[in-house]
Amino acid sequence: MEEKFAAIVVGAGPAGSTAAYLMAKAGLEVLLIEKGAAPGSKNMFGGRMYSHALNQVIPGFWAEAPVERPVAKEIITLMTGDQCLSISIQDLSWTKPPYHYHSFTLLRAEFDAWLAAKAEEAGAMLACGIRVDDLLIKDGRIVGIRAGEDEMLADVVIAADGVNSLMAQKAGLARMFSPGQVATGVKQVIKLSPEEISRRFQLEGNNGAAQLFVGECTKGMQGGGFIYTNKDTISLGLVIKAAELQKTQHKIADLVEEFKHNPHIRPLVEGGEVVEYSAHLVPEAGLDMMPRLYGDGILVAGDAAGFVLNLGYIVRGMDFAIASGQAAAQTVIEAARNNNFSRQSLSQYAKLLKESFVLRDLEFYRKAPHFLENRRMFEVYPQLACGLMSRMFTVDGSPPAHLLNKVLSQVKESQAGLAQLAGDGWKGARIL
Ligand SMILES: Cc1cc2nc3c(=O)[nH]c(=O)nc-3n(C[C@H](O)[C@H](O)[C@H](O)COP(=O)(O)OP(=O)(O)OC[C@H]3O[C@@H](n4cnc5c(N)ncnc54)[C@H](O)[C@@H]3O)c2cc1C
Repeated sequence: MEEKFAAIVVGAGPAGSTAAYLMAKAGLEVLLIEKGAAPGSKNMFGGRMYSHALNQVIPGFWAEAPVERPVAKEIITLMTGDQCLSISIQDLSWTKPPYHYHSFTLLRAEFDAWLAAKAEEAGAMLACGIRVDDLLIKDGRIVGIRAGEDEMLADVVIAADGVNSLMAQKAGLARMFSPGQVATGVKQVIKLSPEEISRRFQLEGNNGAAQLFVGECTKGMQGGGFIYTNKDTISLGLVIKAAELQKTQHKIADLVEEFKHNPHIRPLVEGGEVVEYSAHLVPEAGLDMMPRLYGDGILVAGDAAGFVLNLGYIVRGMDFAIASGQAAAQTVIEAARNNNFSRQSLSQYAKLLKESFVLRDLEFYRKAPHFLENRRMFEVYPQLACGLMSRMFTVDGSPPAHLLNKVLSQVKESQAGLAQLAGDGWKGARIL
């Protein structure tokens, strides 16, 4: 007879491992299945996780988790060919109480392996190197999974299998996404000594930096560049809307090389050795690509549910994945108590997500993905801002002009009129 679990979790990313950890801790029999040879071996991200969600699940997790550096410095850089304009903030309170470390840079191979091991320690069974191919459906409800020849039964399946979730599609809860709804990310991990990293980014001790780039690095396409400092590596990469890459036929692998060799970036990574290269999709359409979150015997969590927020200056997916894994676990624990895994019983999941920051924040920023489709953000405004700053600091014997005149002539030279600039500024301030 096939073994039956209370819950099968598909995918040992942050969403799946959190759900498995909490359910196992509550005494449920849990199977956590990962297609990669080890948790994290198939995963990538830019590099920074906001701490608040995991701190709810494992208070003070940083004392034992393989985190790299607490982020103490944020930099946003607008780039044109020759110019770049950076706005930077260093806030040391992010590395102290009461923030209890606001965010950390991480490497997913180590972090995901640690979180999955926590689930195992709590009693979950972890099966790696197994790709789940299908769901078992009986009388209209999900009763387990099929992986190759093997069938495994469960009261409930949690689809935590990431962007383009096969499980959510098989359950009829989601459709295949369109290129306009996702971005492609590529990343290089570049090795340098810890002292050199701290020196180049002007950081004290093990403090870290997160730098986002807009403009030239994506050739004006919707997206951006990123650099995150780890202990002895730098994560550097680009995220660009898949539809834009398709349209322009640019190769993101070439663009990332160009980005790395850009004279503004080269001094930061020079002499470093590339030790890792990876690529992955990012869900970017916000609530517009959210599937139905539950069905009879199934819940959908993390990227599989489209829970990613990209505001251009902040990228969040990990904290949503962890909190949705937590809400999924709470729902299943309650369903097991009542021995009721029906759609109606599992609807508690959506209620918990609405009460948590997950759906609150996604709802709050609902219009952000549409706003960021505006090409002026990636082409015209970086040029305008860099041009204006350059004018302010240029002394070349030309007749002087007051600041207002400099602003007006810079706007005139840009492809955006004053009205458009004011309109975009007003909209941006309300939406982002
Ligand atoms: C380029 C890039 C930059 C990003 N930057 C950031 C950032 O700086 N900060 C941030 O918070 N977020 C960032 N994100 C988003 C973040 O990576 C995701 O939101 C997060 O990883 C989602 O976690 P998850 O557990 O839902 O899915 P995933 O981490 O994708 O995990 C899903 C797991 O399921 C497994 N799986 C898939 N299908 C199957 C199957 N059929 N059978 C078995 N196993 C399966 C996969 O191997 C994987 O391990 C970034 C993403 C990308 C791509």
